[in-house]
Amino acid sequence: ASLFGHVEPAPKDPILGVTEAFLADPSPDKVNVGVGAYRDDNGQPVVLDCVREAERRIAGTLNMEYLPMGGSIKMINESLKLAYGEDSELIKDKRIAAVQSLSGTGACRLFADFQRRFLPDSQIYIPTPTWSNHHNIWRDAQVPQRTFTYYHPETRGLDFAGLMDDIKNAPNGSFFLLHACAHNPTGVDPTEEQWREISYQFKVKNHFPFFDMAYQGFASGDPERDAKAIRIFLEDGHQIGCAQSYAKNMGLYGQRAGCLSIVCEDEMQAVAVKSQLQQIARPMYSNPPVHGALIVSIILNDPELKSLWLKEVKGMADRIIGMRKALKENLEQLGSTLPWDHITNQIGMFCYSGMTPEQVDRLTNEYHIYMTRNGRISMAGVTTGNVAYLANAIHEVTK
Ligand code: PLP
Repeated sequence: ASLFGHVEPAPKDPILGVTEAFLADPSPDKVNVGVGAYRDDNGQPVVLDCVREAERRIAGTLNMEYLPMGGSIKMINESLKLAYGEDSELIKDKRIAAVQSLSGTGACRLFADFQRRFLPDSQIYIPTPTWSNHHNIWRDAQVPQRTFTYYHPETRGLDFAGLMDDIKNAPNGSFFLLHACAHNPTGVDPTEEQWREISYQFKVKNHFPFFDMAYQGFASGDPERDAKAIRIFLEDGHQIGCAQSYAKNMGLYGQRAGCLSIVCEDEMQAVAVKSQLQQIARPMYSNPPVHGALIVSIILNDPELKSLWLKEVKGMADRIIGMRKALKENLEQLGSTLPWDHITNQIGMFCYSGMTPEQVDRLTNEYHIYMTRNGRISMAGVTTGNVAYLANAIHEVTK
């Protein structure tokens, strides 16, 4: 028998499988609204001008030395200011343990491994539904998972009552994974008032919130506003964890630039926690990549480049918000009698359309429109050129 004869092919990733099928389709009408990466109005990938400028400044000057085990100190400092606020007392008091991570995924995985190692009896509460990789990450880190109510299928909005019940019913001191903004896949976020109630209840229950912030700036167009949930929890004196990613908001997808931070009780604790995070990273990948981190720190550290970035993030968010309006208006003009308000109420890259797997199959088979079977439309794939075609197809399969 062969050594690897027992190895079966792994199941296809539901999201990457959609892209493969799209690429294989020869139809000129085909539309890809599956992939979670920003596209311009011609459906093309985008590199931001601020990133190009940062690269020009780096060109020819960079040596290829290793970063420290915890990554670029400058990049970490800029990341903390972005998430916790320019004037954060926690930063001044050095209470935050932070390391550069392999984008948002790596930050989540590092945290999950830290949780497993130092709080071996803890579990993680994950929203239903969530980004499917969250389940893989905490599974492979061997942290038991529970779920909590989040989405309300009928209203296609937040099930706030269900969410609050689950928070109250979880054992005191539980770990919760929260999407800081632009919840993936639903595009449904709590309001500011609801975040305040959630934070209050977390305090009562002594729960620990871990924020996955993969879309800061991408939801409203303003990174400060998108950090509101985190700031509310900080105001209330919570210790939090936070995974930051520059994949979407700087378009640095393949650079794997991110940051994991954990708020500690004091500086001494933060030093200890950071050293342990590095210890976990060391046998996995030793230290993180240098190029993306340099781009991030150059942009955030230079007032001119930072304001260009803010303008460009807003440009991406605004294009998506515009496409939400266009999709909804097209559906209404076609005479669809179904409610489509959720298209414009939801926020961020995705629209959780409410279409069934069977309806999605019809979109793919009859209209060459590719998306995940949970009905999630990536609004980044919608353009002025394809929105009418998409609306017509959705109308036909939901009649
Ligand atoms: N978390 C959420 C909710 C996401 O949607 C994504 C990307 O799709 C990520 C984390 C991680 O992305 P990356 O590892 O590319 O930063």
